[in-house]
Amino acid sequence: MNVTPFWLAGRAATGTETLAVTHPFDGREVAVVAVPTEAQVEEAVAAADAVRAEAAALPVHVRAEALTHISRRLAERAEEIARLITGENGKPLLWARAEVQRAVSVFRIAAEEARRAAPVVQRLDTDPGGQGRIAYTSRVPRGPVLGIAPFNFPLNLTAHKVAPAIAAGAPIVVKPAPATPLSALVLGELAAETALPAGMVSVLPVPNDRASALVDDPRLPVVSFTGSVPVGWAINDRVPRKHVTLELGGNAAAVVLADADLDWAASRIGLFSNYQAGQSCIAVQRVYVDRAVAEEFTPKLVEAVGGLVTGDPWDDATQVGPLVSVEAAERVEAWVDEAVAAGATVLTGGKRDGATYAPTVLADVPAGAKVLRQEVFGPVLAVQVVDGVDEAFALVNDSAFGLQAGVFTRSLDVAFRAHRELEVGGAVIGDVPSYRADQMPYGGVKDSGVGREGPAAAMADYTEERTLILTGL
Ligand code: NAD
Repeated sequence: MNVTPFWLAGRAATGTETLAVTHPFDGREVAVVAVPTEAQVEEAVAAADAVRAEAAALPVHVRAEALTHISRRLAERAEEIARLITGENGKPLLWARAEVQRAVSVFRIAAEEARRAAPVVQRLDTDPGGQGRIAYTSRVPRGPVLGIAPFNFPLNLTAHKVAPAIAAGAPIVVKPAPATPLSALVLGELAAETALPAGMVSVLPVPNDRASALVDDPRLPVVSFTGSVPVGWAINDRVPRKHVTLELGGNAAAVVLADADLDWAASRIGLFSNYQAGQSCIAVQRVYVDRAVAEEFTPKLVEAVGGLVTGDPWDDATQVGPLVSVEAAERVEAWVDEAVAAGATVLTGGKRDGATYAPTVLADVPAGAKVLRQEVFGPVLAVQVVDGVDEAFALVNDSAFGLQAGVFTRSLDVAFRAHRELEVGGAVIGDVPSYRADQMPYGGVKDSGVGREGPAAAMADYTEERTLILTGL
């Protein structure tokens, strides 16, 4: 099998070691990827550091043209890249294709944001001491970014790091997840086709045990991490003087109130607790349904989940594929079994076949069960009956996490109340918490992280304000 190179400061390179990428559905090897040596990692970081000033001074039209080029090339190569994602991650082609289209949008949005970002001028003669003065403030890059990405959206979550870095004029070194480096490497290839300085983008499939050296490297003052809660907070604690943003896990909740459209709520919750086989940080994991409609809603939900097409991710009709590994599916199985032993009822699913876990709905789950309190990251949904919005919102907030929440209601009052009271980064009214548009600020509170992604928000994180005060006007 040919070795897939990594991208070191604008050129394809191979090292002395490789890693095998296997397909989660059947375990077969889909690629062999070159792993950079320590000297090559050093070369990439030094190259990023060396172009720091050049990158910050890049005219906006150069940044925007590079971003537009990458967006266009992703669109041209969409089917090929979707197949890489399905191969490495196991997600059905349906979702892999959607992921590529989202990455196309992310680069397009970042080009728009690069053009929009502008200095702010303030008059200072509002007080006598400021007479004859103005302040001119623009944002300057903090320096090269280390982007660390997870396995579950290997292309789009890498795009969410690379695109804003280019837009902000910051070099970036990306470390993809070892299980899923293939689609992230395409971004290195496409960046190399642009007029950006060579050191601007490197994509290095560095093994986890060597990633700490990158985290510690003072030449990478910004760390943008998307991944699990323990790894993220450990990085934050390790480098407290760096600018660290963390996009971590959750146990997202949907609330179904008595005025909701129950068919819509059931079909959306049914699908979005299971898309990506539940391996999305905002997959619906908890449902709080008002007692007044619980009897009508729950069978609709069970029917929606039971009707999902599970199986071979290469089949166009498949909606739910395998988890990332057999071990991941075994963990989900163990958590469901534990909940059942403690009194939960399986309404549908509850079975494992290799790395595939059947879409599952549980009821009567005891409050302390892992499937409610921790991040399942699998196709498992717990439905709990509540008495009205007060109890529902209290239970949504009774979580260590806070990424997004969904509230199915037609009430504008409840919508604003959700925005005021729910401890999350985003409240979605009339849909699942899993809804994300790529231009929005997106991120979490509590254990779910700190900082926001979305090109504009990430550009703000990768830069800081610098002010010029002019006197004598
Ligand atoms: P993970 O934490 O195991 O790995 C994430 C990345 O960190 C990978 O690239 C991994 O190689 C790297 N890594 C691991 N140890 C490291 C270390 N010591 N130093 C530096 N890097 C290290 O997470 P995962 O299993 O790949 O992804 C799943 C998790 O990601 C879930 O918890 C999910 O909720 C979360 N996630 C969050 C968001 C979000 O935007 N909030 C989006 C997607 C996934």
